[in-house]
Amino acid sequence: SEVIRTKDISRTYQMGSETINALKSISIQINRGEYVAFMGPSGSGKSTLMNIIGCLDSPSGGAYFLNGQDVSNMSENELAEVRNKEIGFVFQTFNLLPRSSSIENVALPLVYAGYSKAEREEKALQALENVGLGNRYKHKPNELSGGQRQRVAIARALVNNPSIILADEPTGNLDTKTSYDIMDLFDQLHSMGNTIIMVTHEEDIAQYAHRIVRMRDGLIETDQANEHVKKAV
Ligand code: ADP
Ligand code: ADP
Repeated sequence: SEVIRTKDISRTYQMGSETINALKSISIQINRGEYVAFMGPSGSGKSTLMNIIGCLDSPSGGAYFLNGQDVSNMSENELAEVRNKEIGFVFQTFNLLPRSSSIENVALPLVYAGYSKAEREEKALQALENVGLGNRYKHKPNELSGGQRQRVAIARALVNNPSIILADEPTGNLDTKTSYDIMDLFDQLHSMGNTIIMVTHEEDIAQYAHRIVRMRDGLIETDQANEHVKKAV
């Protein structure tokens, strides 16, 4: 079933008297359970598109349907509500709270969902176990390796059971071996039915995805099934 559908999305930025057409016309459909990588040179519009798909921003023109719901013209509050429910974010820089333990970091998105503290801790611990960090729940970010920090961030992305995991350069700050471990984890999450959308500069990382979209100058240049999906094991 369809999770994402955009129809002729555009996004312009105004820089003084200059108008920048960051996205010109993007039409794409992504179904539940897909694993898609977005590639493209710097400035091609990847971040702009991810911000729209992640409900952090709205298109200037065109329409965006998330789970069949038109989110293109929502207010910021409505968009925040959809975002908290539907999207799990993973960033290059992990974005963890430095003074909080793993379990506290992972439980954070549940605060807005109205669960009790005991429920939040139970769900957060389960999410940490799902990424192989059940025994690190008390650790703070500076007591963890880069790969472990990214796993905590992935657990935080998963804890709300979102419709989409949106990962922006998830291996950008990791060495090759650790990147490979994170791609292994993404494989597991994908085989469990999660929908994964990843932005990466790295061709070898993109090859773990089952579909590769290449952008250029605010347009989709190619959108193809990956015939040679790399396996992380
Ligand atoms: P990518 O993620 O592929 O590097 P971006 O989406 O960041 O591409 O950028 C696409 C284009 O939009 C670029 O020309 C960039 O300079 C411009 N752009 C992005 N964000 C802004 C902004 N907030 N204000 C003005 N221009 C922007
Ligand atoms: P070799 O090139 O000698 O086979 P590598 O260390 O390059 O050894 O690769 C070992 C494994 O890690 C391979 O399966 C490869 O696909 C994978 N790999 C290599 N680079 C990356 C990377 N940046 N991220 C994830 N996996 C990688």
